[in-house]
Amino acid sequence: MNRQDIYEEALLKWGAESQIYMLIEEMAELTKAVCKYYRGKRTQDDVLEEMVDVEIMIEQMKIIFDYNGRFNELKKKKLKRLHNMLLGRE
Ligand SMILES: [Mg+2]
Repeated sequence: MNRQDIYEEALLKWGAESQIYMLIEEMAELTKAVCKYYRGKRTQDDVLEEMVDVEIMIEQMKIIFDYNGRFNELKKKKLKRLHNMLLGRE
């Protein structure tokens, strides 16, 4: 089973609404880990673990929300804008 199959299987098993709430929960856990990291109460590994959880949920969100395949196009556009900002063009 490849990654995409696993994401699709998770959505089939628990449903889109449940996975959207799981995304919110995982984002909150990442927020908390980052905040605590800066207070010396979490390690870099703790933050990384929460980043992975969020990324796994984001991949499932792409299946739900990116039905017209615009994610990569928007990401490219936003990265180009960031690059321009770094170059002082925006
Ligand atoms: Mg988590």
